[in-house]
Amino acid sequence: MVLVDKVAIVTGASRGIGRAVAVRLAEDGAAVVINFSSSEQAARETLEAVIAAGGRGILCRADVGKPDDCEEMVRSALDNFGRIDILVNNAGVTRDNIVARMKQQEWQEVIDTNLTGAFNCVKAVMRTLLKQKSGGRIINISSVVGLAGGSGQANYAAAKAGLIGLTKSLARELAGRQITVNAIAPGFIDTEMTAVLPENLKEAMLAQIPLGHVGKPQDIAELAAFLAGGGSSYITGQVISVDGGLIMA
Ligand code: NAP
Repeated sequence: MVLVDKVAIVTGASRGIGRAVAVRLAEDGAAVVINFSSSEQAARETLEAVIAAGGRGILCRADVGKPDDCEEMVRSALDNFGRIDILVNNAGVTRDNIVARMKQQEWQEVIDTNLTGAFNCVKAVMRTLLKQKSGGRIINISSVVGLAGGSGQANYAAAKAGLIGLTKSLARELAGRQITVNAIAPGFIDTEMTAVLPENLKEAMLAQIPLGHVGKPQDIAELAAFLAGGGSSYITGQVISVDGGLIMA
């Protein structure tokens, strides 16, 4: 129970990777704020899984793209648990299209949620982390697409690459306070986000994965739990891929 007495905010925790991360952190003893923007019923199922794992949690509806929502989420975390130690910026959306056809709105929605959303959450928790003077962990869920680009995903790739720049800059700014900031770059993970991809595209992606199978949300959650814990205290500013060997730098 390495995270006993720690409090984590996990954005986009109503399903997929966010749910797996929330439950995994709860298994390690953290109290979790389960954020979602619209899928309340799914978020409740995450809370049930957290409780079944012996953990504590609350639901928090907030659109991470809205600074006021993020401030409110932090207030709610503090009202319920009194402190914040870990922020996992996981909320994300896709609006895939080739640039030639991409609408301004498709670009903006992805940047607003996947990149500005992380900035908004960091801004909202920053004062608390600094005031507590007890270090902290910020974990940003980027993507291999942020490292390598992706045809039809310029908006998503730009947001995820931006998240890596945010990660490294914040790591430098906060290192003196023992707050570590790292990014996870998942490859092809089996969630609702990837379920909608055309079968031929899924097969083509699968063929490129050296380990020969897609990943599970749990694969990301395991690394998130490590980065959230004490064993990772000398790791900051890093981007760690969890992708079955897809990208080897
Ligand atoms: P998912 O199943 O589609 O879940 C996305 C989550 O984000 C949901 O909980 C959703 O909640 C939440 N969300 C979306 N917009 C939000 C907003 N404005 N404010 C707050 N929450 C919001 O996706 P996933 O596959 O688990 O992906 C999770 C993260 O991993 C994303 O950042 C994604 O880009 C990244 N990732 C995924 C893969 C993959 O292969 N699956 C690969 C690389 C990176 P609501 O339904 O309530 O909006």
